[in-house]
Amino acid sequence: MQKEELISWLEIDLGAIRDNVQEMMRITGRPLMAVVKANAYGHGIEAVGKAVEAAGAAWCSVARIEEAFVLRENGVTCPILVMGYTPPQVVREAIARNISLTVDAPDVAAQYAEAADTPLKCHLKVDTGMSRLGIHVDQAMNFLHWLHAQKTLAVEGMFTHFARADEPQAATTAEQLAKFQRLVQDIEAAGLRPEWVHAANSAAGLYFPETRFDLVRSGIAIYGLQPSDNAPLPETFRPALTMKTRITSVRILPPGQGISYGHRYTTANVQRVGSIAVGYADGFRRWAGNRVLLQGKSVPVVGTICMDQCVINLDDVPEARRGDEVVLIGQQGSARISAEMMAKTWGTINYEVVSGLASRLTRLYNG
Ligand SMILES: *Cc1c(COP(=O)(O)O)cnc(C)c1O
Repeated sequence: MQKEELISWLEIDLGAIRDNVQEMMRITGRPLMAVVKANAYGHGIEAVGKAVEAAGAAWCSVARIEEAFVLRENGVTCPILVMGYTPPQVVREAIARNISLTVDAPDVAAQYAEAADTPLKCHLKVDTGMSRLGIHVDQAMNFLHWLHAQKTLAVEGMFTHFARADEPQAATTAEQLAKFQRLVQDIEAAGLRPEWVHAANSAAGLYFPETRFDLVRSGIAIYGLQPSDNAPLPETFRPALTMKTRITSVRILPPGQGISYGHRYTTANVQRVGSIAVGYADGFRRWAGNRVLLQGKSVPVVGTICMDQCVINLDDVPEARRGDEVVLIGQQGSARISAEMMAKTWGTINYEVVSGLASRLTRLYNG
């Protein structure tokens, strides 16, 4: 659909994503594994998968195998790693579609080895302190020996994940890295080093050069979003996503009039308000303090956010009319609301803001 035909939509600048991918590769000097899980952090996995591959990403990675299937169905041909748990029932389909799986426990690996008809490509996940997935670092060497002995498993990678890389001041990353480096030395000495050893996410790749190993797994940075306030992006990165809607009605209310469910907001004076077509089912939040951009000005949301709509105060923009564009995330004139600012309003992080954007929002791609 065209922008003129839509009420609420996302504009995704694929040129920005391609530039961010290349900037990350330039800074780290390593191949890039583009992390496109969660619908490419809300940006749309089909288009983003193709774009990152075209930009030179050596790998794509996802959290779940269904996401890997979507990439293959859309013609992505680069290697794909599923970083989360995969049920043994889909091992043969993973092999058929050349998808690499994560192994993190002997019982699961045994099930994979049993299910596989031809060698399954796998990456050994090592827990160095994230305490989520992964074989404990002290048991990794034995496990790797066992994996190598399996005819139906082809160990092509080994990786770990940092718990606090977005806090460059915290000592945790150096501690996790030291454990992982010791393991890498040991497996090299034993002649068991897989082709791809990796550890860094965006923050680690940018702030801890020693974590880069053979590739950097980058998600948030390729979308032009910062890993955290303490780990900002270099200025050469640019955000790719803009969220827009339109004014769908304008009215003037008398003093003392309640607005929206629960009448949790009541007009103090005569007030001009407008409805916009974004609600909590789009990934906006039922939360006080939301603002949007209209005619290049920041205006407040008033009253409770509904499922598909909410109401904004138009007192500062009396010229506003039905059909006018409203920006929820992005730039309008010289005003800007970033995903980071929206996250602050909601007491969360930019990752949750963009990955929570609903699938019903049409994604329009340019660049
Ligand atoms: C999501 C994820 C990443 C990407 O992290 P960013 O902070 O978005 O770069 C990397 N590695 C693993 C294991 C992940 O789950």
